[in-house]
Amino acid sequence: MTTAARQATEPAPLPSALVERLLDHAVAGDAPPVAIFAPATGAKIADLPQSSTADIDRAFATAREAQREWAERSVGERTAVLRDLHDIVLTEQRAILDIVQIETGKSRAHAFDEVGDVAVNARYYASIAHRLLADRAARGVLPVLTKVEVRHRPKGVVAVISPWNYPLALAVSDALPALVAGNAVISRPDNQTALTALWAIDAAVRAGLPRGLWQAVLGRGSVIGGEVIGRADYVDYTGSSATGRTIAQQAGARLIGCSLELGGKNPLLVLADADVSRAARIAIRACFASAGQLCESMERVYVHDSVYDRFVAEFVDHVRAIELGADLDYSADMGSLTFPRQLDTVRAHVDDAVAKGATVLAGGRARPDLGPYFYEPTVLADVRPDMTVHREETFGPVVSIYRVGSDEEAIAAANDTAYGLNASVWTKDARRGREVAARINAGSVNVNEGFIAAWGSADAPSGGLGISGTGRRHGPEGLLKYTDTQTIAVQRVLPIAPLPGMSEELWAKTMTAYFTVMKTLRLK
Ligand code: NAD
Repeated sequence: MTTAARQATEPAPLPSALVERLLDHAVAGDAPPVAIFAPATGAKIADLPQSSTADIDRAFATAREAQREWAERSVGERTAVLRDLHDIVLTEQRAILDIVQIETGKSRAHAFDEVGDVAVNARYYASIAHRLLADRAARGVLPVLTKVEVRHRPKGVVAVISPWNYPLALAVSDALPALVAGNAVISRPDNQTALTALWAIDAAVRAGLPRGLWQAVLGRGSVIGGEVIGRADYVDYTGSSATGRTIAQQAGARLIGCSLELGGKNPLLVLADADVSRAARIAIRACFASAGQLCESMERVYVHDSVYDRFVAEFVDHVRAIELGADLDYSADMGSLTFPRQLDTVRAHVDDAVAKGATVLAGGRARPDLGPYFYEPTVLADVRPDMTVHREETFGPVVSIYRVGSDEEAIAAANDTAYGLNASVWTKDARRGREVAARINAGSVNVNEGFIAAWGSADAPSGGLGISGTGRRHGPEGLLKYTDTQTIAVQRVLPIAPLPGMSEELWAKTMTAYFTVMKTLRLK
């Protein structure tokens, strides 16, 4: 079994002038720097300055001052920045695609998904923010006499703690709605992919965002995460379910809100009436985007017995044709893993499964000949519940295929997990697809797609059930979570109290009559 491959060439180091310019948006330098290396080649990218407590204090102080002025600006002025950022990301995509690829080791096609994600979210929130943030009139307790309006106030300074796997999408697309809602943002990108986040801040400043409103602090999450959360007014966190619990505790202790976007063990169901060839082709992207280091990617595939052999044959053919590499062009299909620990996990899951009797249908080995952390896209069959890969998130290019006899069996198997992030259902009957989808415990279900139909539809919320998280990004929820509502009620002409000389008893009787009439007339 062979997986085509291209030896990764040493990426051109990022120009030092560019790195210097980007680091200007980070408040860091007091703590010792950390060297960052390109996963695909092992070449050094930069010595990344780290933030001390004093740096973090300074970042928040600057952000608070900038936020006061920003919140006074009209929504139109704020959305103008998003519109310009949208254009910059598209026109300067070569620059940011290079940085994303160098920092993560992913293929260019998978990096482009991130550029698309920023464009979609910038355009969406630029177009909808005005309506979402408008004051709303609410019904008063006494019609006409009580005038009520509901306003949306920005939280203040929002902390966005983002991981390394989709460093542009996850740093930017959560920051944009926070900014447009009138907040400042302090980003804590992963060290490995900090330059990507800093490029985005730089682009936003060039698009008209006031300097200081969006800054980054740099450091390992376990070192500075608590300090960031300790100063923020709201926390947006993306990462593992285990760390999500820590973040929730820290936010809870301060009684601030948090949105947690966590892990997944996502199922893909191929029903008996599926377009098998299309399912087999699209499942490749659904399983191996960013070498499987995608929270939404598919790690479990349940195929109806009647189409199992055909699906597996076509799927495995596609997998074997995947070309590995991370050159800074569109030549490779799939790139490298990003960290040695990801490679360790992938190896451990596959080796454990094989030792317990699983069959490797494709892949199954590391490719150090290509770069330190390359691993072949891998398909396993005969996976049983006692194998680690059956239940635990691998977060790598490993998918297990199971044969099922009915939709019921597929749904039950799909739901046999504590996670609930994303799912995919394949059928030629859209109604049947929707019915099956509604029975799967996942925040998003894609019918005849893997993840991009739901994820890319920015108007619809995205997030997890179960241990896959709380809170939502995208859609109205993805912006309104960064605001507090404030109700302002103005009482006119008469107070809501007994008139002078009226007894409390008569007031109670009058109000009882009023409530009864309101219900009879069906007035709310
Ligand atoms: P991780 O939780 O170990 O780390 C994620 C990020 O959190 C890192 O940048 C890390 O520095 C930071 N972090 C760690 N401890 C912290 C702390 N105490 N305070 C603040 N920050 C801290 O996860 P990982 O294994 O590096 O990332 C992969 C995980 O992220 C997977 O489980 C994946 O499914 C999940 N993920 C989820 C989504 C989503 O949208 N639901 C998106 C991407 C990744």
